[in-house]
Amino acid sequence: MNPERHITEGPEETERVAARFAAELRPGDVVLVSGELGSGKTTFVRGAARALGVREPVTSPTFTIGHRYEGETPVSHLDLYRLGGLGGEDPGLLDDYLTPDAIAFVEWPEIAGSGLEGVTSKVRLAHGGGDRREIEVERCR
Ligand code: ADP
Ligand code: MG
Repeated sequence: MNPERHITEGPEETERVAARFAAELRPGDVVLVSGELGSGKTTFVRGAARALGVREPVTSPTFTIGHRYEGETPVSHLDLYRLGGLGGEDPGLLDDYLTPDAIAFVEWPEIAGSGLEGVTSKVRLAHGGGDRREIEVERCR
């Protein structure tokens, strides 16, 4: 079934959906995670990263565009929010994160426009009122 839709009623549930999704990921996968502020993008990435063996706290990148975690598979977590766009940036900016050995999650991928290559899944989160979130997962291959 593509796309897959889930409704969650709290952050733990979103983490569980993400963990099940992560079980199907492979090194080199690039997962776009979009949705408004507070819709649960970082929560989703946290659940996925945990399931991939990351033990460190998974937090929003603030002073950098990304984090790289050493899980069973390396996990890259990018947040492009503070980047106005990729135009004017070093073209190699994302290269340290989007490596063939790692699974990468990209928050605010819209900011990179078509500059993100090799996208394998797209996750969209939306507020559903209160603690409810609607999650759509689309596999691109
Ligand atoms: P984003 O990265 O999209 O800005 P975060 O994951 O950082 O969002 O924050 C989501 C916030 O919403 C957290 O405070 C989280 O606890 C809360 N929340 C409430 N219900 C849910 C839910 N069903 N799924 C995910 N987060 C939820
Ligand atoms: Mg976030």
